[in-house]
Amino acid sequence: MGMFDTVHYKCPGCGRMIEEQTKAGDCRMNNYHEGSVPAEIAASEIGSKVDCGCGCTLRVHSSAPVARVKLYLVVDGPEVTESDEVEWD
Ligand SMILES: [Zn+2]
Repeated sequence: MGMFDTVHYKCPGCGRMIEEQTKAGDCRMNNYHEGSVPAEIAASEIGSKVDCGCGCTLRVHSSAPVARVKLYLVVDGPEVTESDEVEWD
């Protein structure tokens, strides 16, 4: 409740550091520099407007597409052990 993560951006217009709150990640009050942001936070930040207050209209861009990772399933049970094998005569 009221928890968020913060991404720190540097305004390309005036050089001031800007703090943007996000609820996309773990939301454990983590702080991330714009140069290294977890993928789930980056995905929600890209394209969003940031207000610096210096008169610049800012929008979040990414240097690369947010990476997609390969997911797959592994069998987690039931466990097959030697003693479970049935001997057929
Ligand atoms: Zn600025």
